[in-house]
Amino acid sequence: MKTDKYLPTIGLEIHTQLKTKSKMFCGCENNSWKIGQEELKPNSAICPVCTGQPGSLPVANETAIKMVVKTGLALNCNIAVESKFDRKNYFYPDLPKGYQISQYDQPICQYGFLEINQHKIGITRIHLEEDTAKSTHPAGTDYSLIDFNRAGIPLMELVTEPDIHSAKDAADFCRQLQAIMRAIEVSDADMEKSQMRCEVNISLALKNSNQLGTKVEIKNLNSFKSVERSIQYEIIRQSKLLDQAEKIKHQTRGWNELEQKTFVQRNKEQAGDYRYFPEPDLPILKFNQEYIKKIKSQLPELPQEKIKRFQEQYNFSSTDCKLLVQNKALADFTENTMSELRAWLADMDQVDIEDEQTWQKYSQKLSRLTANWIINKLSGILSSHKKTIEQVNLTPENFAEFITLIYASKVNSTNAVKLLEQMIKTGGDPSDILEDQGLHLIENLSDLEPVVDKIIADFPDQVSAYKSGKQTLLKFFIGQTMKATSGKANPKMAEELIIQKLS
Ligand code: ZN
Ligand code: MN
Repeated sequence: MKTDKYLPTIGLEIHTQLKTKSKMFCGCENNSWKIGQEELKPNSAICPVCTGQPGSLPVANETAIKMVVKTGLALNCNIAVESKFDRKNYFYPDLPKGYQISQYDQPICQYGFLEINQHKIGITRIHLEEDTAKSTHPAGTDYSLIDFNRAGIPLMELVTEPDIHSAKDAADFCRQLQAIMRAIEVSDADMEKSQMRCEVNISLALKNSNQLGTKVEIKNLNSFKSVERSIQYEIIRQSKLLDQAEKIKHQTRGWNELEQKTFVQRNKEQAGDYRYFPEPDLPILKFNQEYIKKIKSQLPELPQEKIKRFQEQYNFSSTDCKLLVQNKALADFTENTMSELRAWLADMDQVDIEDEQTWQKYSQKLSRLTANWIINKLSGILSSHKKTIEQVNLTPENFAEFITLIYASKVNSTNAVKLLEQMIKTGGDPSDILEDQGLHLIENLSDLEPVVDKIIADFPDQVSAYKSGKQTLLKFFIGQTMKATSGKANPKMAEELIIQKLS
């Protein structure tokens, strides 16, 4: 089937729990980011405000408002001069007041954008609201349980323009947004913990048509992979229907992770009427330029800026950069390692690192080694120990020295892995461990000579074949030398020595 007959048009709606100490409109603890850390008792962080008791009054959480402004600035939004809260009325057991305090026509942020894979994705709005309680339906029972700990946790809602046209761009938008929210420390945005919840709306239309198709919404997506796969699934499902000249129904669909399929949750006959009206118990929010300027000046380097800088400054490839900046601690570790390496180069004679060309020449190889060892080996060792870079005793100084040992061929790659494991385990200096454990390459000619002499004596047939012109046997002798030294011979030195002995 040809799916490229149709152009998918995708928009995203993303809710994120903000990492504040207290809830949005009361002083109760916001324990959303402690999920998984300790046993949280249901209904332990509640009060009259977040359980909707008559007569209780909300007070807005200033930190949460600031976090939304911060996010808006990181995403190139306009910050409203004036913003307000509204009541969104609907009935549901997880909504104790019978309405959600949200924002309707005056969100804090509007008209932003985020560039994903060279496509500019417009951000319609970012507003602030409160989370609902959490209901669970124990299997085999005829009752439901409700936990109000989540009710009133600050929730930031971001809506994009329908500017996305592929499943990959949609998933990458979510990934990039998560990286930004983590970098500016407004949320951990862990999808598995429901701290970040992505909803997709998607419609298909014939390419070059100027009309949009009927929108289908997809909910219950708890990973970036399921964002991508559910969209791919919908593109195929809707293409098939359109090919058969069938109508797409305006629906809300869920995602079945097990079967990798979307399924109907409900048909939408008309848009919900929430009878929004301004929240009378909360004041209007006013943002002056000074306040906005100050927050803007405090923004840290954003992931995309960091990727660009890492590429320019250290010659990392763009793929490596993306992996290295995903985690702030690892990005800092990488950067500190590179500056140690720069200092190491500066100490070497004949290397003028102030000369841009010289620096480029050396840094290219060093950065390739550094990125390679961090991404392919160090990360693997860390995850096998279920540790982060901050939880182990590996300093950038020692890691940089480790890189220089590989750079100078003082250790082969098999032993280098052992060395790195020891460094992580003991926090020790790589040169010391190298000596103590005998992991270093044989560097002295006098150590290598008897080994080569013995090989020449052991293989007289190969020696005479080589001498009568079979030059390819050189590889055989090098191989034997490596074998005899358990790979610790410096291959270059071995080669030179063999040639010299056989000539
Ligand atoms: Zn409360
Ligand atoms: Mn919402």
